[in-house]
Amino acid sequence: MLIGQNSVVSIQYTLTNDSGEVMDQSQEGQPLVYLHGAAGIIPGLENELTGKTEGAEFKVTIKPEEAYGDHIPEMVQEVPRTSFPPDQDIQVGMQFNAESPNGPMTVAVTAVTDDTITVDGNHPLAGLTLHFEGKIEGVREATAEELDHGHAH
Ligand SMILES: [Zn+2]
Repeated sequence: MLIGQNSVVSIQYTLTNDSGEVMDQSQEGQPLVYLHGAAGIIPGLENELTGKTEGAEFKVTIKPEEAYGDHIPEMVQEVPRTSFPPDQDIQVGMQFNAESPNGPMTVAVTAVTDDTITVDGNHPLAGLTLHFEGKIEGVREATAEELDHGHAH
C-alpha cells in the first residue's frame, strides 16, 4: 500500500541538525505513528513520504519553512526577575505556560541573570534546517474513528 491521504504510517527516524547533532529520534520498538494528510507531522517530511511504501528508507533535508518555521525574534522576551516568585529557582531549559495574544503558549527559559529572565516562545526547532533519515515500518488504512479524530490510534 502506498502512503497517501488517510494512511496511518509508522516510521523509525533520526533527526539531526546541520552540524550532525541528533535532535530527536524514535526509540527501538516505538515508531512514530501518524495519520497522513492531517498535519500530524511537518509538511516537508509528509511530502517526502507520500507515495512511498512499507520497508522504504528515506533521507531528506527540510528547510525551516517546510518544518517549524523561522525563528521569530519578537517571540524572545526579557522579563524582570521580579515577575517570578522570589523563591522559585529559575534555570535555563525550564518551560512555562504563558498567555499570548494568540492563546496559551509554551515558552522556554534561555538565559538567567540576577535581574532578568529571557524566555523564548519559538518552537525549539524553529529556524533550523532538519535532516531526517529513517525507514517506513508500516502503512495501513485509517479506521473511521481515526479519521473522525484526525489522528492515529
Ligand atoms: Zn482519537
